[in-house]
Amino acid sequence: MERSKNKKILLSLILCIPFLFGGFITNETMMPKFRMKKIVLDAGHGGRDPGNIGARAKEKDINLAVTLLVGKYIKENLPDVEVVYTRKDDSFPTLKERPMIANRNKADLFVSIHSNSAANKSAYGTETFVMGTKHFESNFDIVKRENSVILLEDNYAENYEGFDPSSPESYMMFNLMSKVHFENSVSLADNIEKQFKDRVGRKSRGVKQGPFYVLWTPSMPSVLVELGFLSNTTEERFLMSQEGKEYMASAIFRSIRDYKESIEAN
Ligand SMILES: [Zn+2]
Repeated sequence: MERSKNKKILLSLILCIPFLFGGFITNETMMPKFRMKKIVLDAGHGGRDPGNIGARAKEKDINLAVTLLVGKYIKENLPDVEVVYTRKDDSFPTLKERPMIANRNKADLFVSIHSNSAANKSAYGTETFVMGTKHFESNFDIVKRENSVILLEDNYAENYEGFDPSSPESYMMFNLMSKVHFENSVSLADNIEKQFKDRVGRKSRGVKQGPFYVLWTPSMPSVLVELGFLSNTTEERFLMSQEGKEYMASAIFRSIRDYKESIEAN
């Protein structure tokens, strides 16, 4: 009796060996290396939604021009990365559609590009947002303005299930993204602000958190870039110039390239 029991135990141990080694093989040698293959670039606003309006510039036009340049630089310099745009012209994708395009395409990164505005005309500089609610009350004006786009959409009440962009309580439903996506988003956002400051000489207002609808639903690292204030005459002039757009787009491109390198190395 005892012998047959021992035999059974021995047999089960032998049967387990391939699974044990199989486990090691899968973890050590067969794990596919992560490659950033696809990025969704989102030019904020568009069509009947001009976004912020400066003395002469409309936010939607600045955003589109810079976004198309970022895409062009990626295609020229990172041929293994596919670029998908939420819009390539003056059209009006809804705030809900934009991240859905990224999810449908199983993108590895989502970058939304915007331009800022403030009642205080002397305010200027760049800022990059990641999804989050830490200290967002101090940025509530920007958050509210960007999210209010949904009020221009048909059937917004049904599509956004009672979400009211001007009520702070509405933001209770915004859950944080996964820790790893959050950390990667912050790393890219840091990089973008550093490039704006060090390479383009802009004033960086830093990396901030905000419950932006467009950053809530993408299931990949995602950031929202504010290129500068159209309410500030000097900054508006810079962003309207071809040179300004090229500088800002190449800064964003370089950050994406560095982010890709660092994430693939880890
Ligand atoms: Zn905007």
